[in-house]
Amino acid sequence: MQETFLVSARKYRPTTFRDVVGQDIIVQTLKNAILQNKVAQSFLFTGPRGVGKTTCARIFAKTINCENITPEGEACNECKSCQSFNNNTSFNIYELDAASNNSVEDIRQLIEQVRIPPQDGKYKIYIIDEVHMLSAHAFNAFLKTLEEPPAYAKFILATTERHKILPTILSRCQVYHFKRISVQDMVNHLQYVASQEGINVEEEALRIIALRADGAMRDALSLFDQMVALTGGHITYKAVIDALFVLDYDFYFQFSSSFLEGNYVQAITLLNDILAKGFDGAHLLSGLTTHIRYLLLAQTPSTLDLLELGSALQERYQEHSKQFQAALLIEALNMLVKAEFDYRQSNIKNVFLENLILQLCLLHDRLQKNFTSQTSPPLDPALQRPIPPTSSPSTKPTPQKTQASPSSLTPNYRPSNIVKINDSKKEPNTPVNISKTSKPINETILEELKNHLKETFKENQELSDVFSYSTISHENEYIMISFSHPQKKAIADNYKTSIINQIHHFFNNNNIRIDFTLTDNKTNTSFNDMILQKNPEFQKFVEILSLKPEK
Ligand SMILES: [Zn+2]
Repeated sequence: MQETFLVSARKYRPTTFRDVVGQDIIVQTLKNAILQNKVAQSFLFTGPRGVGKTTCARIFAKTINCENITPEGEACNECKSCQSFNNNTSFNIYELDAASNNSVEDIRQLIEQVRIPPQDGKYKIYIIDEVHMLSAHAFNAFLKTLEEPPAYAKFILATTERHKILPTILSRCQVYHFKRISVQDMVNHLQYVASQEGINVEEEALRIIALRADGAMRDALSLFDQMVALTGGHITYKAVIDALFVLDYDFYFQFSSSFLEGNYVQAITLLNDILAKGFDGAHLLSGLTTHIRYLLLAQTPSTLDLLELGSALQERYQEHSKQFQAALLIEALNMLVKAEFDYRQSNIKNVFLENLILQLCLLHDRLQKNFTSQTSPPLDPALQRPIPPTSSPSTKPTPQKTQASPSSLTPNYRPSNIVKINDSKKEPNTPVNISKTSKPINETILEELKNHLKETFKENQELSDVFSYSTISHENEYIMISFSHPQKKAIADNYKTSIINQIHHFFNNNNIRIDFTLTDNKTNTSFNDMILQKNPEFQKFVEILSLKPEK
């Protein structure tokens, strides 16, 4: 006889708390309650579909009935009760799907059941799925039972729509919020399933499946089954993006390169190629929005982890993002978010998209025009482009460099230029490479630089303000921006690459070394003096903030 095919979502449904994916806090709380013998009477499990609500309810039901609960709070899976649960023959669990059984009659049957105590085992567990679907009458009939249930009855109500649950029900339940399962958790689980089934997979392929499943493990597993069937057990990235009609990352990278180069011919051609293949414009828009968001996040080490991507792709984002100024990405993101909303209203969708892509290609020049109109001597247009990365591809912070603040290792910042924060206590280093400077560095120009930075970043109020709380000083080609407050410095650190780029552009000199520091009145006596001497504004600043620099 042929073996019946069991879908992965059922075959790999967790049977112990240990196997539940991505709901660690809930699992721990439930286990603790069981171990401490403080199990509530009624629970409400809320959260999106396919994240493990019913699964957890079943494991919970099995565990509280187990005769030999392990010290970790797990069911033994061996006792009579556990076995009957595992074979689906237990009489102590009663499941009602309120989506299809929502009448008063259905609830009456359940209430009848509640009256009968368990024949063996300690508890009878009633799981009501999609409880928000119960009719008003059914709800009312149920309320009485929920108010005064017999000690052996436990209720687990599950819903995807918590806001539809009456307050009278909510107040009688312990509420647990199940979260979407993260892409990485899903990828790990899919990898486990693949290894158990002897299926060859490319990690990037699983990531696409996980992204499409949008936090629901059940969906991820059924997509996985489809892909197994389609590919005959060798799931490649290419096969998955073709089958799921997902746009390859490459297209998005091509778009962002066009935005950077202002190459609208290339961008419009690309757009039309994609639309001709039948891709949906709305999907393209949201994909592009995500792509720009990723580029922005990839610029700072501290936000890099928010990219739910594999390491190879993450590195690719990191590298690519170095070419962009944050201002451009922020503005592009702004335009795209707005466009996603307007697109739905538009009657001429293709023209709408073309226009948007054109605007994005012109964005770079537009920002640069604002930039130059605020700078007195016009810059050579060739130099207005972001500086291409000059360092080797691996600019990731390495352990031995941890003494320097991580952000001093941001892209575009050549390792030879890194000045440790602590070095500010010593004599400022003499620059190694003195280049031809188009603008001399002096006090007047530093004041101009400060205003220029404020102006350049004015669309990011938080960042722009930072410069009002800073003092800029220099020693030959070494510029030091001192911040009065750690918070201000932290904000500046987040945008260090962009700030450094702007300063290099401003002076038309990539050899200028720039460092951020905190004004420290204890250890930086000489530096304070230097600043006070060279920058009278610092005195005002000292007074406003009642700082007491040592003299
Ligand atoms: Zn057991």
